[in-house]
Amino acid sequence: MNPTLWTTVDRYWTEQLHDADPVLDAALAANAAAGLPAIDVSPAQGKLLHLLARQARARRILEIGTLGGYSTIWLARALPPDGILVTCELNPHHAEVATANLARAGLADRVDVRIGPALDTLVALPADEPFDVAFVDADKPSNTDYFRQCLRLVRPGGTIVVDNVVRGGAIVDADSTDRNVLGTRQLAEAVAAEERVDATVIQTVGSKGYDGFLLALVRE
Ligand code: SAM
Repeated sequence: MNPTLWTTVDRYWTEQLHDADPVLDAALAANAAAGLPAIDVSPAQGKLLHLLARQARARRILEIGTLGGYSTIWLARALPPDGILVTCELNPHHAEVATANLARAGLADRVDVRIGPALDTLVALPADEPFDVAFVDADKPSNTDYFRQCLRLVRPGGTIVVDNVVRGGAIVDADSTDRNVLGTRQLAEAVAAEERVDATVIQTVGSKGYDGFLLALVRE
C-alpha cells in the first residue's frame, strides 16, 4: 500500500481532466472553517458521480448523507434546470453549511435539503415520483435499510451507488465487530439476495485512502 502515491496519482489525473473549480474549492474551505470532518468524496469520485448522473440523464437524484454538500454539488450539476435532488442530513449544522454552499454554487433552486434521520425522510417519500440515481453515503449500520428504501424509490433502469463498501479491506473480516463493517456486510448479503438489482463493487484508492463503491442497477 502506498497512500502517498495514490494521492499523487489522484492529483495528476485531476489536474489533467478537471477544470479549475472555485465553487467546489470554496465549499471545501467553508466545510473546514465550520469544523466539518473532511469525509466528503474526492474530486475524482465526485466527478464519477456527476458523470454517472449525466449518463443516466437524471432528472431526479436522491442522496443520503449530505455533510457540507460537496458530493451534492457534483450530482446536482448533472441535473437539467427543472431537475431535483433530495438530500438527507441528520446534523442541522452540516445541513446549514451545505445549504450555504449550494446557494453559492447556484443550485439552491434544484436541491432540497431534508434535515433529520434519513430513514424518516425516506419512508415519507412517495414511490410514484421515482428517482433516476441514488447515492448512499451516511451512517453505515443503516446501509441495508437505505438500500431497501432506494429499491422502493429508484425507477427500473436507475442506479443505486453506495460509498465506503471496502473500508480499507476490513469488509472481508468475518469476525469484525466494527458496526460500519457489520452494516456493510449485511448490505452485501441483502444486495446478493436481491433479484431486482444487478450489482458490482469497484475498489478505489486515492486521496481518500482505500475503499470502494457498490453500483447496483435496478432491473427493468
Ligand atoms: N456525501 C458527502 C460528501 O461526499 O460530500 C459526505 C457524507 S458524510 C460521509 C456522512 C453524512 O451523513 C454526515 O454529514 C452525517 O451527519 C450524516 N448522517 C449520519 N447519520 C445519518 C442519518 N441517520 N441520517 C441522515 N444523515 C446522517
